[in-house]
Amino acid sequence: MSTTITPALIEELKASLTSSTIVTPSDEAYPEAITRWSSAAEKPAGLVVFPTTASDISHTILFCSRHNIEIATSCGRHSTSGASSTDGGLVIDLSHMRTVIVDPGAKTITAEGGCTWEDVDNAAAVHGLATVGGTVNHTGIGGLTLGGGYGWLSGQHGLTIDNLLSVSIVLSCGSILTASPHKNSDLFFAIRGAGQCFGIVTSFVYLAHPQGPVYAGMLLFPSSPEVIAGVTEFMNHLVATSKGESAMVVAISRPPAGGDVAIGCIVFYNGTTEEGERFFGKLLEMGPVVNQAREMEYRKVNEIMNGSVGFGGRKNLKGSSFLCPLNQEFVRRIVEEVASFTEEYKDAGRSMVLLEAFSSGVWEKRGMEEMAFANRGPHLSSMVGAVWNDSGIDKVCREWCRKVAGMFTAEFERSKKERGLESQAVGEYANYDGLDRGTNAEKMFGVNYKRLTELKGKYDPGNLFRRSYAFLPVVAEEAGGVSVPAMV
Ligand SMILES: Cc1cc2nc3c(=O)[nH]c(=O)nc-3n(C[C@H](O)[C@H](O)[C@H](O)COP(=O)(O)OP(=O)(O)OC[C@H]3O[C@@H](n4cnc5c(N)ncnc54)[C@H](O)[C@@H]3O)c2cc1C
Repeated sequence: MSTTITPALIEELKASLTSSTIVTPSDEAYPEAITRWSSAAEKPAGLVVFPTTASDISHTILFCSRHNIEIATSCGRHSTSGASSTDGGLVIDLSHMRTVIVDPGAKTITAEGGCTWEDVDNAAAVHGLATVGGTVNHTGIGGLTLGGGYGWLSGQHGLTIDNLLSVSIVLSCGSILTASPHKNSDLFFAIRGAGQCFGIVTSFVYLAHPQGPVYAGMLLFPSSPEVIAGVTEFMNHLVATSKGESAMVVAISRPPAGGDVAIGCIVFYNGTTEEGERFFGKLLEMGPVVNQAREMEYRKVNEIMNGSVGFGGRKNLKGSSFLCPLNQEFVRRIVEEVASFTEEYKDAGRSMVLLEAFSSGVWEKRGMEEMAFANRGPHLSSMVGAVWNDSGIDKVCREWCRKVAGMFTAEFERSKKERGLESQAVGEYANYDGLDRGTNAEKMFGVNYKRLTELKGKYDPGNLFRRSYAFLPVVAEEAGGVSVPAMV
């Protein structure tokens, strides 16, 4: 149980902070301060602190530790599992820490822990640079980076964590450390995949790559049997032939204005329009009813999906995986699932399934035990997203996500078996708030789980950062040997 935050405790905290904004439940700013991307993930925090310095974060952490107050950290506020919210505890909201410094000579981007990808993309673009960031630019760099990070540039440069050079982090003991391959390298291992459980990252340093304009945009098709066959075939072709410069996200949903389920292909080619049109020629020949693909600045690609997945309403995500070549019949069943669910529950009519057809070659080059992230392999991510308003159907929507993610998992296991593919990968991207995220950290971190529990014992023995995954820190006997259970 988290201690109730009384006015006296608030005064005590205020006295130790220099520049933070503090919002209490009686303040006018409170409703906005606890808003989340999914209103179903909002919780009534006892206090929200908006720090601007690592030192204030350190004092706030020590205050929470001293008084047994639960901490939740928030950056872009997109977690649907409630990991960045707390019922009665204290939220450290990093959204007042959004400075980005680009060093074009060293090709690095240093971004404060509360940035969105829009902040990073825009600052890097000024210098003709980019790093691997999210495909929806209102997501936070905090949660996305610490959980792994896939983006349009993953085919060429790997995951976001593969491009992470170092971080500054505040630990549960209040210390402010740098973690990199050369400094506190064991902590840097943990941060790249399980970072949310080890402290509060105040700045990230990313490797930047030269980046020019790209060919990208949405092609919209009706979900006819011919289109399902053609899009699946093209997706399989892309994954088999892409050298990393091309990628596609297939979105199965009803259009915003309503109507039958449609298939949206958001295409991406890191090159000219001519090259892009040549690569996506077969898809273009299928005659999309809407074709918005054109040459644009790279940073603009990450705005394409912003509108269809904006803040507001209740939402739930469930991640799973699939292997290409993907079976047409399976895609047809998924289209049917979206159609029948959104027909029965009109309030959930904007629910969707996404398939991410990226090239896995670069992220597969890194070893499974090189970083905490344990989901490397040729498989790709699918995301089932329910979107609704009426809290009366919360359970139905969550169960639907679980059911469809389960269909992907079953198909993934079947195709793995068929191909004789043996893999240590956990088979699920944890940042899509996977099936057992809250209760089964072992499943999420697979081969790296044991090492992570030991590192948790070293860096967060009191399990202060426990909103994300149910790690049980293994505390060395000479350090007291007491483990604090997770509370998700
Ligand atoms: C619309 C949408 C699009 C998405 N697109 C992509 C995509 O293209 N690629 C991809 O890889 N993922 C994507 N995701 C998944 C995304 O990576 C996760 O939702 C991620 O958790 C979002 O991070 P956030 O900072 O916005 O969320 P928050 O809810 O603020 O934080 C999520 C978690 O990270 C922790 N955290 C955040 N910042 C810090 C920090 N600085 N220090 C310590 N802990 C921190 C929080 O405590 C919480 O546990 C998408 C999600 C959504 C909803």
